[in-house]
Amino acid sequence: MGIEKETIEVAPGIRQIPNTPVFITVIDKVINWARAGSMWPVTFGLACCAIEMMATGASHYDLDRFGIIFRASPRQSDVLIVAGTVTKKMAPVVRRVYDQMPEPKYVIAMGSCACSGGVFRTYSTVQGCDQFLPVDVYVPGCPPRPEALLYGLLTLQQKIKSESKRWGFWRR
Ligand code: SF4
Repeated sequence: MGIEKETIEVAPGIRQIPNTPVFITVIDKVINWARAGSMWPVTFGLACCAIEMMATGASHYDLDRFGIIFRASPRQSDVLIVAGTVTKKMAPVVRRVYDQMPEPKYVIAMGSCACSGGVFRTYSTVQGCDQFLPVDVYVPGCPPRPEALLYGLLTLQQKIKSESKRWGFWRR
């Protein structure tokens, strides 16, 4: 008899053997669930967008309720929120912070400046942090409101939940 007939689906990807406390799922589901529920962004801001990022983490919007807690060290973080204008002088520093983060790690480009250089079409400004970082989520706006950053973080959660075999010797 197939597993579909012997179990019932209680949530997407999670099945239960009827009348028992036994649940069956796949390891990807468990790892992605834990990872998405404990994203730790590094405390790092570059310009005015960082103020909105701080507001998102403060009591009114309360990122803690999603398990999103800022860490003061890149070595304890798995999310880099590029919040602000990236100058060509600062880009290597941002890259170094990213390189110090352990795998798996994710990047959010917050605000028009981080996404595309924004209004600063000048010789000194990087025209988008995706020129030197692998960006996962873009949050447009100048500055984006805390709700927009919140939406970006929740979008990243969904992306993490859809990952497959990004662990052990299958790690990308
Ligand atoms: S997008 Fe706007 S608010 Fe954000 S860093 Fe650039 S100029 Fe400042």
